[in-house]
Amino acid sequence: MSATFATATHTGLVRRGNEDACFARPPVFAVADGMGGALAGEVASRMAVEALERFAPGGDGMASGLASLVEEVNADILARAQSDTRRAGMGTTLTAAVLTDGAVDLVHVGDSRAYLWRQGELRQLTDDHSLVGEMIRRGELSPAAARSHPQRSIITRALGAEEKVELDRESVATEPGDLLLLCSDGLYAMVPDAAIAAILAAGDDLAQTAGALIEAANAGGGADNITVVLVSPDGSRPAGGQGGPPPAVTAGSGEPGGTAAPDTGGHGEEGAAAQVPDSASGRRPLWKSGRLWLAAALLLLAATVAATWYMTRQVYYLDFSGDRLAIYQGVPVELGPVSLSGLYRESGVTRDELMPYELERISRHELKSLQEAEMMLDNYIEQYGQDEPERPPAGGRDGAGARTTTVGVTV
Ligand code: MN
Repeated sequence: MSATFATATHTGLVRRGNEDACFARPPVFAVADGMGGALAGEVASRMAVEALERFAPGGDGMASGLASLVEEVNADILARAQSDTRRAGMGTTLTAAVLTDGAVDLVHVGDSRAYLWRQGELRQLTDDHSLVGEMIRRGELSPAAARSHPQRSIITRALGAEEKVELDRESVATEPGDLLLLCSDGLYAMVPDAAIAAILAAGDDLAQTAGALIEAANAGGGADNITVVLVSPDGSRPAGGQGGPPPAVTAGSGEPGGTAAPDTGGHGEEGAAAQVPDSASGRRPLWKSGRLWLAAALLLLAATVAATWYMTRQVYYLDFSGDRLAIYQGVPVELGPVSLSGLYRESGVTRDELMPYELERISRHELKSLQEAEMMLDNYIEQYGQDEPERPPAGGRDGAGARTTTVGVTV
C-alpha cells in the first residue's frame, strides 16, 4: 500500500488572512481551523499541525498515540492562550487521520470534517462539534437550515478551550478506490455534499481535484478560509502535479511511515501571482511621458474615490454606541463634516462587561463583512448574556447530555 495525496489551502474571497493549516506526511493527514482575534487563530492551528510532526508511526495503537499527542497540544495551546494576552481565547479545530493497514483511524475535535468517498457516494465520518451540528443531532434543525443559520460558526469543542479536551475517535475500514477527504468548514459551508461528491468523481489527479474543490468554494462565495486534504489510501489515484497558483496545492505519495512527502500545509499562500517582482516589468519607457503621469494620477484619484465609496457600503466594524456595543456600517473616518459610517445594529452588551483584551480588539475597529461583524457581536452577546435575539434553547430539550458549551467562533 502506497498512499497518494494532495493538499490545497486558500484564504477565500472575504478573509484577509488564512487561519487554516493542514498536514500531510503519510500515514498522518490533518486539517486545522484556528479561531481567535489578531493572528491567534493562525498560531493555534499551526501549533496543532506542527505537533503532528512529533508523531512516531509504526506498530499497533497508532491511533492512541495520535490521540495522546493531540491531548498534549491541547494543553500547550491552552497554556499559551492563558500566558499571552494577545493569544487569549485562541483555539483550533483538528481533524486528523492515520492510515493503518486497511483502515483509517480518526481523531477529531471541532467543526472541520472527514469524509469517505466510495464509488460515487460521499459519507461524512465526523460529527460537527458546533451549535448547529448539535441542534441537527437533536432533531431541532435541518441540515439545509443549518447552512444559513446565523450561529453556524459557533463551535462547541476545540483544542485550547479547556483543560480536558473530549476527542471523537473512529476507525473505518477502507476499500480499493476509496478517497479520504479532510476539509475545513470553508469548503462544506460553500459547496453542498452532492457537488463535492461530483467533483471527486469527475477528477482523477488528486492535485487537480483539490484545486477544483477550492474553486468551487470560492465560486460559492468563498466566505471563509478553505482547506482540503485528499488521500487515496491505496494509491489508486495519481497524486498529480506540484504547485500551480492559485490555490497553493501540494501533492505527493509515500509509504506509511516514510518521509518522502510534503510537510505542513501552506498557511495562506495565494499563489505566485502576487509575488512577481516589479523589477521584472519592462514598462519604464512609457512612464517618461508627463501626460501618462497625469493620467495615472487622475486614475489613482478616481480609483481612490471609487474604493472609498465602495468600502463605506461593504464594510462593518464594532464600536460602542454610548455604552452599548454595536455594529457600524462604513469606515471609522470623518472627512470634515462627513462621517463615513453609521450605526447599523446596537446590542445590550455594555462596555464594563467586556474584558480588557476584548475592549482593545474592538478599539482597533477591524473592518469586517456584515456576516463576520454579526458573528462577532452575536458571540459577545452569547458570552455576556444580554439581548437575546432568537437564541437557541440553552439546555437542550432533554436535560443532561444535551448541554451546549460555546467555546468560540471561527471568525
Ligand atoms: Mn473556518
